[in-house]
Amino acid sequence: RTFEDLGSHGIHELVIRNITKMGYESPTPIQMQAIPLLAQRRELLACAPTGSGKTAAFLVPVLSHLKGPEKRGFRAVIVAPTRELAGQIYREALNLAEGLRLKIHIIEKISKAMKKFGPKTAGKYDLLVTTPNRLVYLLKQEPPVLSLANVEWLIVDESDKLFEAGQRGFRDQLAVIYNACGDSSKARRALFSATFAFEVQEWCKLNLDNLAMVSI
Ligand code: AMP
Repeated sequence: RTFEDLGSHGIHELVIRNITKMGYESPTPIQMQAIPLLAQRRELLACAPTGSGKTAAFLVPVLSHLKGPEKRGFRAVIVAPTRELAGQIYREALNLAEGLRLKIHIIEKISKAMKKFGPKTAGKYDLLVTTPNRLVYLLKQEPPVLSLANVEWLIVDESDKLFEAGQRGFRDQLAVIYNACGDSSKARRALFSATFAFEVQEWCKLNLDNLAMVSI
């Protein structure tokens, strides 16, 4: 199977071109499973280890379906446990989105983000990559520094690490982030996890709507 075969799930032709330029010849198993589900806007728990191609598994469908910043705030948010991982995801997003004219941002420093996005939250952007601590801090400002009111995708990478490290704290952070997403029927959530962590599975079963589960 090729990425072109997955094209029936609406992978943008420029994203396919960029995938080819990056040297990816065929989709990995997690990409084959997760791309069609995310393109269909299903809520998802995907268990896939680091190195399985999980980053492109969520970036390819999300970037393909972002049609440019027409509305206030961000259209998709990727949450990752560390700044290093957020940086890797951000760079892969820039490569996959080349030519798409999307506005892709990463929150590295709070002070920079405050200058870039706040205090006015009227800017229009596409994709945000961030750690949860930084995002929650910005959302809790009065007024909030960022708008997630028009978010269509909320993706959590390495969610097992976040649930583990934060104890109950990450559940609360996830609730703050999701509640900021406005009309809850619009924002689709997907959690990626390297392990079958009980807490992640339990949270997904309790909170996700019409949950799809994939694992490799
Ligand atoms: P990840 O699991 O997302 O950290 O990806 C692991 C590595 O695999 C990264 O260096 C990616 O650039 C690479 N990769 C992702 N998808 C593919 C693919 N379909 N074919 C070849 N390499 C890939």
